[in-house]
Order: sequence, then structure tokens, then C-alpha cells
Amino acid sequence: MLPLESAAIFLRGNKLTGDISEPTRFALATTEARRFYIEDQKWSLAKFEAVDFSALNYTLSKKKRGYGWWAAKQHSNFCGTRLQVARWNQTDDNRCPNCDQPDERASHLNVCPSPDRTLQFKESVDKLAKWLESGHTHPALAFWIPKYLIARGRCTFADLRHYCPPGIEMPQMILELAEDQDIIGWRDFLEGKISKKFYVIQRRFLMGAPSLLNGRDWVTRFISELLDISHTQWTFRNISLHSTTNGVLANERRNHLAEEIYKLQHMDPQDIPEESQFLLEFDIEELQEGHIERQEYWLAAIRAARLAGLRRIHRRAKQRGNNARKRALHKPLRQPRNPRQRQYSESIMYDLFGDWDDSKQPRVRPSEASLEANLASNKRRKRRRKD
Ligand SMILES: [Zn+2]
Repeated sequence: MLPLESAAIFLRGNKLTGDISEPTRFALATTEARRFYIEDQKWSLAKFEAVDFSALNYTLSKKKRGYGWWAAKQHSNFCGTRLQVARWNQTDDNRCPNCDQPDERASHLNVCPSPDRTLQFKESVDKLAKWLESGHTHPALAFWIPKYLIARGRCTFADLRHYCPPGIEMPQMILELAEDQDIIGWRDFLEGKISKKFYVIQRRFLMGAPSLLNGRDWVTRFISELLDISHTQWTFRNISLHSTTNGVLANERRNHLAEEIYKLQHMDPQDIPEESQFLLEFDIEELQEGHIERQEYWLAAIRAARLAGLRRIHRRAKQRGNNARKRALHKPLRQPRNPRQRQYSESIMYDLFGDWDDSKQPRVRPSEASLEANLASNKRRKRRRKD
């Protein structure tokens, strides 16, 4: 505190002289991040303490929010790799779109052995190397950083000194930085988690260099360049996968469409209504080679036409069924020509008429009218007798 200051705010030993909101948020987030990385992610305390989170936070604060989301998803292994998307879509195909290796994970991003991705990675490193050699970077850093990147995690930063040709040695300052970065790791390096020693070396170097950058500016730019190498790989990979012309998914879709076109082209033309028969006159070979949207349009049209044709067939069949039912309703019920000729089961006949004698006739009760006609008092009967 200065002699005339009546009050001051200190955060972890640093005096806050401006807006306290951002440093307070960062301090609280660091506490939560320490708990998360050490307890959940099983980082060592040394690894957590080695990372310049302040520089990473400042770098990402200058980026678009979507870029920060990508960085968070990439680092937490929850970016849309094929392994994650296959789990989501419940499919079996989780191969890298560039090298076809199974189980494409976030850790595969910068180590994909595909020649195209490797070439892209080298070009990105060359771009970074040019910036490092532009006078703002300690010459030893400018020499060793590209070599560490090109090693692609096959050896540690500190071990690079064993691969040097005779006459080239790794300075002690760089060796200490390399050992610190090795605690963090190569993958994390490319996700913007750099050792705090980069800032220390660069701050000292830039104090005596003819550069307008300071140590903070340099690490911000450096982290941004590292993130861009990863993001370029991610973009390259996404274009390879999702491109509507040559992407892996587009090619798979096109093959599927070609099969569908072949199948529908060879179906029974009777299933297609007359007014839609022209759809079968398309140049199928041209269609199969054509744009994917045109193929989908043709398939949608032919499916709709086929559906209409099937509906029509179904409707006719139903109509025939209705007519038959109507005819059946209006037709008089068929009676057996001679009920006595009905064939009965012999056992039932035996039960009912087993003791039947042909001489026996069923007793028929005379009607009241016939009894009356035979009465002596019947006048008409008497008159008939007279005749
Ligand atoms: Zn790959």
C-alpha cells in the first residue's frame, strides 16, 4: 500500500488497481480448474502449475466464442470426432475420414498419418516458423519449437537434443523450458497449454530487442498460432468428411443413392402411374454421375410416383372386392335343389333314424280344414256326392 492510500484490494498477492471483476473471475475459475484437472483428469499438481493458464485465457478472450467452444471440446475429448458421432448415431463407422484408422478420437487430430494431413501440418508449422524467425522470438526458441512440433509427439522436447547433428547443443535455458513443457505434453502444447517459462524467456528477450511486442503480446500470438495449427487440422478433417462434392460422407451417400437409383430403375414399370412414366426415361448413367441433389430429387419423384401407382393398384383391387361383395349381396341365396339329397353324417343319421323302416311314414297331423271337409254336415261335400 502506498502511504496515502486508505484502502487497496489484493488478490493472491497482486494488487488490483483496475476493474476487479475479470481477475476475480479468473481466480475463481483457476480454483475450479485446479480441482477439475487434478481430481477428475488426474493431472499432477506440477503439470497444472506449469501451464500458463493466464495467457491461454487472455488469448481465447480475444477469439470468437465459437472458437473457444471448439477449443474446449477438443481439449475435453468431446468434439465431434467419428467415435463420438458414431456413439450418438449408433453406427459402427468411426474411422478417421483421412487415414481410415478406427476409433477417431480427439487425440488423433494432430497425429493423423494421412499424407494430406501430414502435409497440411508441416505447412502450418512452416508458417509458425516464419513468424518465429521474424525477429520477435529468442533465436533458440525459434530453432527448437518447430522441431518439437514436427516430431509430432514421437519424442519429448528435452530428448530432441539427442537427435541433433554434431555441433548443435540445446542451451540450458531451453532444456529447462523443454523439461517443463514435457510435464505438460505435446498434445496439450498444440491445444494452447504452454509452459510459463516461454513468457519468462520472451519477456527478457523482448526487453532488449527492437520489437514493439512485449512478453504478453508474444505468448498471446504464440498460443494463437499453436491453436490455429490444431484448428486447421480440424477444418481440413471436417472438409474431408462433410464436403458435398468429395467428402467421405458425400461419397458414401452417393454410393447409396446409386444403389437406390439402380433398384428403382429396374422395378416393375406397372407400379408407376402412366403420367409419371417419363421419370423412367432419365439417362440413369448421367444421373448417377450427376450432382447429389439432382439424384435425391429424382429418387424422391420416383418414390412418390411408385407410391401413387401402388395406391392406384390397391384402390382397383379394393374396388373389385367391393363389386364382388355387392353382387353377392343382391344374388338370392342358393337353396339346395333337393333338401332330401343333402349328405348327412352317417353317425348322426344312425342316431336319428337307425330304426327307420321304409314302410313307416311320418305321422302327419290332419289340418283342421281337412277334418271339417270330411264331416257329414259339410254341405259342399253333400252336394258333390249328389253330383
Ligand atoms: Zn487419421
